[in-house]
Order: sequence, then C-alpha cells, then structure tokens
Amino acid sequence: MATGDSAAQDANRFIVLEGVRKSYPGAGAVISDFNLSISRGEFVTLLGPSGSGKSTLLMLLAGFEKPDAGAIVARGRNYVEMAPKDRNIGVVFQDYALFPHMTVAQNVAYPLRVRRMASAERRAAVERVLRLVQLEDLAHRRPAALSGGQRQRVALARALVFQPDFVLMDEPLSALDRRLRDHLQVELKHLHAKLGVTVVYVTHDQDEALTMSDRIVVLDRGRVQQVGTPEDVYARSANLFVADFIGESNRLDGCIVARRGEEATIRLAGGREMPCRPVGSLNVGDRATISVRPENVRLELEPAPEPEPDHGLPATLVEAIYYGDHARVVVSLPEGGPLTVRVPANGAAPAVEAGRPVRISWDASLARAFVC
Ligand code: ADP
Ligand code: MG
Repeated sequence: MATGDSAAQDANRFIVLEGVRKSYPGAGAVISDFNLSISRGEFVTLLGPSGSGKSTLLMLLAGFEKPDAGAIVARGRNYVEMAPKDRNIGVVFQDYALFPHMTVAQNVAYPLRVRRMASAERRAAVERVLRLVQLEDLAHRRPAALSGGQRQRVALARALVFQPDFVLMDEPLSALDRRLRDHLQVELKHLHAKLGVTVVYVTHDQDEALTMSDRIVVLDRGRVQQVGTPEDVYARSANLFVADFIGESNRLDGCIVARRGEEATIRLAGGREMPCRPVGSLNVGDRATISVRPENVRLELEPAPEPEPDHGLPATLVEAIYYGDHARVVVSLPEGGPLTVRVPANGAAPAVEAGRPVRISWDASLARAFVC
C-alpha cells in the first residue's frame, strides 16, 4: 500500500546525506561525495583513523558547518539551510563541556530552559532522564565532584532530556580508562535499545564500533570504504584498508593462478600455492594480496614429516605472547611474514620452542584475496 510503503521509506531515510562535499581553506577536500541513509532508531557509527573526516560529518549534521555541495535531509526537511538551534539534535562530545558552576540537575535542565519549558515540567523531565542514566543521587553535585564516567553520563542526560530527533556523539568515551569505557559502551547500547533514539556515533576505536553499532561506516580520507553491519565489515571486509583497520589481519602477496567461482588459488612469493576467496574481479594472472585473520589460521605444531602436497605452508615458530584467555603465536614464513596465529590458551601459556618447524593452513573462504 502506498502510504505504508512511503512510511517505511521515510523510516529508512530518516537522515539522508547525498553527494555531500566539504573542504576547508588550506585542507582541501575533507569529505568527497558522501552518501548515506540512516534509518529511524538506528545506531550508526562513523569509524576511521584520525583526520578521516568523522567530526566534520557530525558538524555538518549539527549545522556548525555547511557543505560545499550536496544535500542533507532529515525527517524530510532540508537541513543545509536550517540553523543549528532549529535542528533539535542532542550532541555529546569527548570533553563533556559541562557548565562547572551549575549542578548536575542545572546542567541537564539547561536545554529545557533555552526551550522555555515551564519549571514543573522541566523538573519532571530532568528527574526522569537522571534516573535513566542512574545519576538521581548526584543531582546536586557540581561537575568537579564527579568522576569522568559520571560527567559523561551528565552530558548524555543533557543531550537526551529534550527528546531530540537524533543524537550525535563524537568520541564520547575516548577520555575514559578502558574498564569504564567498556562498561559505558554496554550502558549506552542498553540505553539506545530502551529509548530507540537514532544515534550517529563517531569513534576511531574499532572495538567500540563493533560492539555498539547497528551499522558501521568505515571512512578513510573523507571517502566511504564500506558500510555494513559489524559482521560485514569484520568478516567480509570490502578492501584491504577495511581488513587492516578493523581487527587484526595477516597479509601475504602473490599471484592468482586459478579461479573457480568463489574460490581461487594464489601462488605466494616462495612458489607455494594456497586457496583463497577472491573479492571483486580478480582473474588468473592478477597480482593479489590475501588477508587472513589470526583466529582463522590453523597451526600444526607437529606437522607430519611428509605432508600431502600443497597442504598448508611450512613455517618456523618465533614466539608466543600470552594474553590470559588466548595466546598469539608468531611464525615466520619463507614467503614473508611474520604471521600471527591466535590460539586459545586453555588455562596455560603455550610452551614455544623458537625455531621449531610448524605448518599453517586455512580454509579458502577465510583468506580473502584483494587486488593490490
Ligand atoms: P576526524 O574527526 O576523523 O579526526 P576531522 O573531520 O576533524 O577528522 O578532520 C578532517 C580533516 O579536516 C583533517 O585533515 C583536519 O585537519 C581538517 N580540518 C578539520 N577542521 C578544520 C578546520 N576548521 N579548518 C581547516 N581544516 C580542518
Ligand atoms: Mg574527530
């Protein structure tokens, strides 16, 4: 039905950026031809190295910067010409930006004051949101008397209190220590599920992006490298940049010598042939780089003395690094290396005899081959 369809389409196109370009004087093009549709209620993360244009995209959405070209439409309205204050967007930045002379409750009430909400209504809204972020007992403290995590929760409450159409967060957890960050990641995720608010989140931390997002937009130098679910970008990386930036990956160079649909054979520098999964149009004779994750490499510590031909790669043990729950075993290969294998630690650090001959192998589908 037409109305149902268009409602569904509206929900899928809650925020739309089309052909967005932005340059700064002296910095050249910072965002080139950026296209993205965000659904209502989605948690979308812009992930990329420092300088890739993540904050610039948030500034464009918030209205603190104007695109040189392209359209930004949110809730069916043209945002490019709309003043920041009319956009009804909540923002949370890394450095909290709380008013030091105001209490927690006053900080959180501030956006409601600006919007001239009546004081009884304001008090109720502040109470509700402070309960939501579990700060109701600290309502009368000033920011200086709070921990980093508590301050960031105040900033979050302040961004949510006026029921924004969507919330922009720029590296909100990056100033916090690891443990607190992990905790707040889960809290934020729960809060998002509970409120169903649309979030555009910025981080350079791939773990954070993987844990929190419905979809991840991987950026490099202002260009989208891949858009997909956390599983898409991790397990089905579209190119070498994404494979290297998200998680850890081992790379080996070679030349494609056979291709049968989803499977190909690559001849590595030393002449050995290994199976792989070609990504995109890779043909026989093309130079390629395979990327295989440490957990997808099989390690045989005691390889049979006369293995079947072309079964894996002979390698030499270099060292094992113990991480408690797992270990990383580093091997060297005649074709280059080192190469890292992730193995479960099973309660003990693996005893590794450096220099020992071993063999590694992998399933074709887990070694992705890219044009290089
Ligand atoms: P990120 O948030 O991914 O680290 P930014 O969007 O902050 O990236 O910056 C992208 C690029 O634009 C960087 O090269 C940065 O130096 C440049 N840049 C950002 N803001 C300005 C500005 N106001 N004036 C000039 N150059 C800027
Ligand atoms: Mg930034």
